[in-house]
Amino acid sequence: MMTLSSKNPAVEVENLTKRYKGTVAVDGISLNVFRGETLGILGTNGAGKTTTVEMIAGLRRPDGGRLSVMGLDPTRDRTKLRQVLGVQLQEGYLHGSLTVSELLALYRSFYLDPRPHDELLRLVELQDKADERFEKLSGGQRQRVSVALAMIGRPRMLILDELTTGLDPAARRRMWRTIEQLRHEGVTILLVSHAMDEVEKLCDRIVLLDAGRILTIGTPTDIVAETGAATLEDAFVALTGQELHEMESSA
Ligand code: ATP
Repeated sequence: MMTLSSKNPAVEVENLTKRYKGTVAVDGISLNVFRGETLGILGTNGAGKTTTVEMIAGLRRPDGGRLSVMGLDPTRDRTKLRQVLGVQLQEGYLHGSLTVSELLALYRSFYLDPRPHDELLRLVELQDKADERFEKLSGGQRQRVSVALAMIGRPRMLILDELTTGLDPAARRRMWRTIEQLRHEGVTILLVSHAMDEVEKLCDRIVLLDAGRILTIGTPTDIVAETGAATLEDAFVALTGQELHEMESSA
């Protein structure tokens, strides 16, 4: 495993808070993400995972606390942040009538030095779907297009939100290979996930959220040891008081 430096972190979060009417979605969380680290973000439904990564991406304004992402303030420096941060959130915002190639060409035009078209197709293994319309693709293929779009600007950091939910086992494995390659290239990755096998395989550390707060943060091995559980899944059941299938079924 690569050595992770705690100096000059990619993300610094201090006492971050977000309220919606009557709900505290994120309740004063603090954490650092190291450069080159893959951090898994797990938690029960409504724990505040998406709200947290949306604030980190500059898509939601925090109500309180301090936030620095790649040395930038996501609220103030959104334009600069877009050059270094790739974001893949839940899909549904793309023009369905465009082909994969047309979507790539459109998004490549937003960057000064975009990744080459063929390299992007290779990265997400969609060479044979280049001329297919987005609306005709399967869920897994659409997910892979959204990852390719997030990678166009050669970001040093990536946010991936429930990337493999709903994918078949082969498609999940292909997506894992893509993430491992990006990780190998030193990209810092925030990975929101409900899948224990996924975070155990891909993540250096995991943060577990519940009701807007951090229950624990550490390597999968540390979290298992800390709780005295046999597996990561058991550790999470012990920490959240919820069975894993309850976390997944309502996701
Ligand atoms: P899930 O696992 O279900 O995706 P999550 O951990 O990503 O959940 P969030 O989507 O961040 O959780 O939601 C945190 C809390 O904030 C929830 O109680 C949710 O109902 C509330 N919430 C989220 N977005 C909004 C919104 N736009 N308006 C009002 N409340 C919201």
